[in-house]
Amino acid sequence: MSNKGLLIVLSAPSGTGKSTMCREYLRKNPGAAYSVSFTTRPPRRGEQNGRDYFFITGDRFREMLGKNAFLEHAEVFGHNYGTSRAFIENTLKKGKDVLLDIDVRGALQLMRKIKGVFIFILPPSGQALETRLKGRKTETENEIKKRLKAAKEEITYIEKYDYVIINNKFSESISLMQSIIKAERCGVGNNASLIKKFRKAFTTKLGRVKKSGKG
Ligand code: 5GP
Repeated sequence: MSNKGLLIVLSAPSGTGKSTMCREYLRKNPGAAYSVSFTTRPPRRGEQNGRDYFFITGDRFREMLGKNAFLEHAEVFGHNYGTSRAFIENTLKKGKDVLLDIDVRGALQLMRKIKGVFIFILPPSGQALETRLKGRKTETENEIKKRLKAAKEEITYIEKYDYVIINNKFSESISLMQSIIKAERCGVGNNASLIKKFRKAFTTKLGRVKKSGKG
């Protein structure tokens, strides 16, 4: 309904399956854009510059920060991450939805600055999260401990979000995500100009009917 794009923010503890959910959502909704973040973290095996992240140096990150190029930014597990202000603003202006996969601190910054739908993804349980983190073998034992500790802190912020999805069954989680976004598009707050236009046309018509004495 709204002719302006929707900002869709997904946050979740590391290992919850949020990146896979983002990929699947984008596959099913090719009209939506993904906000590729800037990071000082080195690329992991299989990651591509410009697709997964823009991998940049600490100096470049600071330079961008100085130019106010980030809509939000945060340090996560020892590396800096930031969302491109220009990309978000231009994409929304074009009427396209934009999907962000960012941490809780970044999401909290955005909540204060911009309208959007904020979704928190939870694992089925703490144990399931630990099993997943161990199973993907991309982090050391020590890093896994850090991520589990961070998860405990992150979940204290759930109530700040608009929606929560427990990623129990993947297809169900995607379907819930789509329903949330569909509903959000009909939100009164997301359709202010449409409502205004309708109201104006409707009142003008009513005025005309009254004048001609037929109503
Ligand atoms: P990873 O390095 O494992 O891809 O991501 C680590 C964490 O950083 C994830 O929780 C991810 O959502 C978050 N992240 C990725 N990009 C951004 C960003 O631009 N801003 C913020 N605040 N967090 C981000």
